[in-house]
Amino acid sequence: MSRKVWKCYRCGEDIVEGMKFTFTRLGPIHWECFRAEVRDKFNGNVPEDINVMLELMDYLANGIVKVKELEERASSDDVRRLLIDRRKVIEGETSRLMSELNKMLYGGA
Ligand SMILES: [Zn+2]
Repeated sequence: MSRKVWKCYRCGEDIVEGMKFTFTRLGPIHWECFRAEVRDKFNGNVPEDINVMLELMDYLANGIVKVKELEERASSDDVRRLLIDRRKVIEGETSRLMSELNKMLYGGA
């Protein structure tokens, strides 16, 4: 089974399973690197609306990591499938939020 490995465009390190990460218009990036990138962009003075978006996404990203843990723990395929389905819903929501945040950060439609 080959696992997809991404490289973070900010620090150049691999993004491995279980790490929080996201995609911006520039590509894959660790979640912590993304937060650092946002701080840099605003010279450390991040607008509250951006902080609110980041905090919500942080919450969802933690949820995704948690559901993955639970998928490992589930002893039946039925429950595992249920968890995977719910995780996909959260992932879809997170990527919608991320595209909103991309608009706020980098402009455009
Ligand atoms: Zn990184």
